[in-house]
Amino acid sequence: MTARMIATSDGAMSDLASRLAELGRRYDAAPLFPADSLHLLVEAGLHRRFAPVEAGGTAWCDEAARYAAVADALRFVGRADLSVGRLYEGHVNAMLLFGWLADPAQLAWLSAALDRRAWFGVWATEPAPGVRISSDGTLVGAKNFASGAGGLGYAIVTAAQDGARRRLVIVPADDRGRADLSGWRVRGMRASVSGRYELDGLPADDDTLLGGPGDYDREPRFTAGAWRFCAVQLGGIEVLLAETRAALGNAARSDPVQRARFADAVAAVRTAGFWVAEAARRAAADDSDAVPITQMTRGIVERAGLDMIEAAARLIGTRSAFDGERIDKISRDLALYLRQGGPDYARDQAALAWLDRDCWNAEDRLW
Ligand SMILES: Cc1cc2nc3c(=O)[nH]c(=O)nc-3n(C[C@H](O)[C@H](O)[C@H](O)COP(=O)(O)OP(=O)(O)OC[C@H]3O[C@@H](n4cnc5c(N)ncnc54)[C@H](O)[C@@H]3O)c2cc1C
Repeated sequence: MTARMIATSDGAMSDLASRLAELGRRYDAAPLFPADSLHLLVEAGLHRRFAPVEAGGTAWCDEAARYAAVADALRFVGRADLSVGRLYEGHVNAMLLFGWLADPAQLAWLSAALDRRAWFGVWATEPAPGVRISSDGTLVGAKNFASGAGGLGYAIVTAAQDGARRRLVIVPADDRGRADLSGWRVRGMRASVSGRYELDGLPADDDTLLGGPGDYDREPRFTAGAWRFCAVQLGGIEVLLAETRAALGNAARSDPVQRARFADAVAAVRTAGFWVAEAARRAAADDSDAVPITQMTRGIVERAGLDMIEAAARLIGTRSAFDGERIDKISRDLALYLRQGGPDYARDQAALAWLDRDCWNAEDRLW
């Protein structure tokens, strides 16, 4: 995994993973914005790696190489700590949006913000009636499920505008007076601090508007972009398998029923891995079937995660639920993080597309 990732040794990567996991344990016990974990990602070069080249990011030979590296990085961080993986995925999403939509002045501003080690998020989810741009060019409304609220440097938020499709606006995200984390009392993903953030009065002007109306919702990019959270989740599922294997006692290892259960878990996790890799590949190619393949991938990763949580409990027993056990934390994190918007709708849309054609092997690619 690490060869494509960053120019550093496997030993350094495994040390980084251990330090992130240890910090994750602390942030889980006393939920706070995980500033120390993000600092480690900056030091490892992961903060700027997927920024546009004009803002100091890496120049990739092609999109396939870039997306494969993104997938590795998301899986890697997800394996270490799913909350930090969630924050990192938001940052990577923001970097991609800047690359697609920013004008030269915004790219120069981004470069300076990254010099200051600012982290970014993307906040689309909102309580009714949603966020809008008022006639005086300021925002009205709030976001919820806003990961990193009050801790990130900036967020890219969606906002409705009269007579136009929704737009993206860059806002400061570090104003603790606007952040409300009181409702983020959750069994997992605690350090993602996905609270509420008030946006009233923040400017939506030439400097802060990113792209034009409807740019965020452009397909296949929008729906296929879900492959990224699948990659983070996959990292968590993979490490749950690894921790379960490490914790498996001799009695379970020598029992054929438990071994069959373990084999089922291996198959589920690896199958999810193949689908995530394919979804990333199709998204990189702007493939016309990237959308149904990602929609299917979401359900396959969700199923693998739920199966892995159950397998860990049945293979390890009560130990899987004890405070301080890594298996407990990953299971709690995954159980929440797997809840993403419209899962049944996504699977149904994929089924409709697949009934229409074989989306994996569209006819022109069969032979
Ligand atoms: C840890 C975490 C961090 C997050 N961070 C961010 C972030 O930074 N930015 C951001 O924009 N969002 C974020 N989100 C929100 C995320 O993108 C989803 O919007 C959210 O997880 C969906 O929550 P829900 O399952 O309660 O969905 P809801 O849409 O409220 O659905 C609730 C239930 O109703 C069902 N349901 C909904 N609609 C229908 C329907 N039409 N027909 C049948 N059943 C239906 C769903 O399947 C689900 O079971 C985050 C979520 C989590 C868990």
